[in-house]
Amino acid sequence: MIRVLAGAVVGALLIASPAMAQTAYYRHVVFDNSLAHDLYVFSTATAVSPSTLENIDSRLPVDTAHFRTPPNALRLAWNSRVGGAWDAEIHLMNFPNRYPEMDGRILKFWIWSEQPIAAADLPNIQLSDAVNGLQVATMPGSFTSPVPLTGYVGRDLPAQTWVQVQIPMDTLASQSVYRFHPERLQSVIFSQGRADGVEHRLIIDDVRVDNTDSNAPADRAILTTPTNLVAKGYDRHITLSWDAPEAAGFDHTVIYRSLNGAPFKPLGIQLPGIHRFVDFVGQSGIRARYRIAQADAGDAVSAPSATVEAASRALGDDELLTMLQEEAFHYYWEGAGAHSGMAHENLPGDDRIVATAASGFGLMALVVGADRGFVTRDAARERVEKIVGFLELAPKYHGAWSHYMNDATGATMPLFGQLDNGADILETSYLIQGLLTARQYFNHDDAHEQALDRRITRLWEGVEWDWFRQTDTSPFLYWHWSPQWGFQIHHPLIGFNETMAVYLLAISSPTHPVPPAMYYSGWAGQNDQAYSYRAGWSGTHDGDHYANGHTYAGIRLDVGVGRGGPLFFTQYTFMGFDPHTLRDRYTPSYFANNRNIARINHAWCVDNPGHFKGYGSDAWGLTASFGFKGYTTPAPDSLNDEGTITLTGALSSFPYTPQQSMAAFKHYYRDLGQDLWGIYGPRDNYNPGQHWVATHYMGLNQAPIVAMVENYRTGLLWKSFMANPDIVQGLRKLDAYTDQAPPDRAAQP
Ligand code: CA
Repeated sequence: MIRVLAGAVVGALLIASPAMAQTAYYRHVVFDNSLAHDLYVFSTATAVSPSTLENIDSRLPVDTAHFRTPPNALRLAWNSRVGGAWDAEIHLMNFPNRYPEMDGRILKFWIWSEQPIAAADLPNIQLSDAVNGLQVATMPGSFTSPVPLTGYVGRDLPAQTWVQVQIPMDTLASQSVYRFHPERLQSVIFSQGRADGVEHRLIIDDVRVDNTDSNAPADRAILTTPTNLVAKGYDRHITLSWDAPEAAGFDHTVIYRSLNGAPFKPLGIQLPGIHRFVDFVGQSGIRARYRIAQADAGDAVSAPSATVEAASRALGDDELLTMLQEEAFHYYWEGAGAHSGMAHENLPGDDRIVATAASGFGLMALVVGADRGFVTRDAARERVEKIVGFLELAPKYHGAWSHYMNDATGATMPLFGQLDNGADILETSYLIQGLLTARQYFNHDDAHEQALDRRITRLWEGVEWDWFRQTDTSPFLYWHWSPQWGFQIHHPLIGFNETMAVYLLAISSPTHPVPPAMYYSGWAGQNDQAYSYRAGWSGTHDGDHYANGHTYAGIRLDVGVGRGGPLFFTQYTFMGFDPHTLRDRYTPSYFANNRNIARINHAWCVDNPGHFKGYGSDAWGLTASFGFKGYTTPAPDSLNDEGTITLTGALSSFPYTPQQSMAAFKHYYRDLGQDLWGIYGPRDNYNPGQHWVATHYMGLNQAPIVAMVENYRTGLLWKSFMANPDIVQGLRKLDAYTDQAPPDRAAQP
């Protein structure tokens, strides 16, 4: 009865994993550069008087004048006095699913000082494996006894000379009640040594671990001069792209820039596996020349590439939107899983993990990319074919896929615990939405597109939506099912939230449909379980009966929890499902309702009752992201507003709030782009009050920008998806059911 492809079958059909480029890099690197140019957010700096330690809001300052890897390093400026103490901690940069294992037993970093420092006056060093970053609550861990750095430097530090320090971590003894685990290294800690009462300044850069002694003869790195360097100017930035094989010993790419004919200077680095770089020059009309080179982890650098030149240039609104779509599209193009073509959950992240919903969204981005010519139609179709091929072989559970899969093998990855080792029908619904959009778009009368149509149809018709009802009489559909644990997680799907797509697709399925009555018994269900479920999100009873009916900031809300909840409720389902055509007994138009949710979200941020820094009419949009506290779902209510603005909130609301979304886009890009604009367009989120800018991009957040901007501009994805005959039939069934009974009777299943 359970149809699961054996791992061996899947493994045999997919090739072996290549080097995990970004994951491997971050298994060595503790610190390379700070995204912010003033302070390093993943640090802590504290001092006890009369000692002092330079800090900005208890974080270490960033030094842009001296560095090993461009564009910056950390500055340790202290004065150790008798009776005082200070402590400076460099934590691992944190992003979702960072692989929790460092690969190396030798800790290495570079230090530099303007003035010489006597060996005895260098600080102490200790290491910690306790998770103590910004995003995660302090967890039990271990730390080593502080030892003088002198023992590893072995001499006075000469002036203005970079010196590499090497510390075999096994030589450090635990000072805590637990053993210190070098592979779990989280923090490198400097602290007060000899109290000499003198101001010292030490620049620290390139903190990493590996297993090679830098003083021993090493195999020469095989570095290659990059080719095909291309520079393209936009309104406020210039994007570089290039080709280069990455062979043994390669560590990163160095980018050099010459402005106005001045000599070339190192500008930044790029990680393995990424062949794009963004130089945010801050204004239009800036002409710059670039060249790049490969570097190893030591001093070796390849010969530089050919020099290219470009200038930033003023763009009109229409060109700006195309730029936004194109840059975010690259997340799903170059950023996709090497084997599967599927989208990663986040970048940087764990290279092994590809995500089902994000890949469905990514299919929407591929359609836009083909239509706008970011890549050729054939190239986009071939990518869709690659994804479909992966999905055909990957384990399916009653036709549904799991939340996360292994890029190389397709194996289910139970990231949320052992119970989550089966189907995720919500993730599956977004994947199907993307597949059906692609099926209708790639429907030219040629053999490739017709074959793709048939393969997608088989996947769509294979999903047993009705299985997720659990019993023949259940009012709800359930989110998860596991071949081992069944419906143990037991999470019912109840709206109004992002799960509407599941009910709409389940009703539309030609092979495994659920009755349209489930829209009213489950999604819009009226029983105590549904009421308390909804009330749990916003901390209020507003909208806990599905209908809301209150007015917020002068805007009436027909349907929605609290003040409408996070904005992804109005985006994920509606990338394909055109909200103009959706109605039910509680609202005559989901387009109008979604627009009101977006307007209320905007009004809340303008009003800003939490007095959060940086909010305004052009800085708004509360929705899910991985922020300074980890993964949260900010919403316009006092329970869920934490001061974090997620850029996709406003940017994926273009169909609803074009003016407010455009204002936010221009503010994020033109005013804040130095921090917020990167190789996949807008970074995920920021929180000025916490000095926080996400270093990562999320697969769930970039593609909705591409898709919803397109729907705003041309309606392409709405038209493509809604042209599916099964969807037309399904919504007709739902409409007929909606009209057949009065609302008060229908409300009681
Ligand atoms: Ca650096």
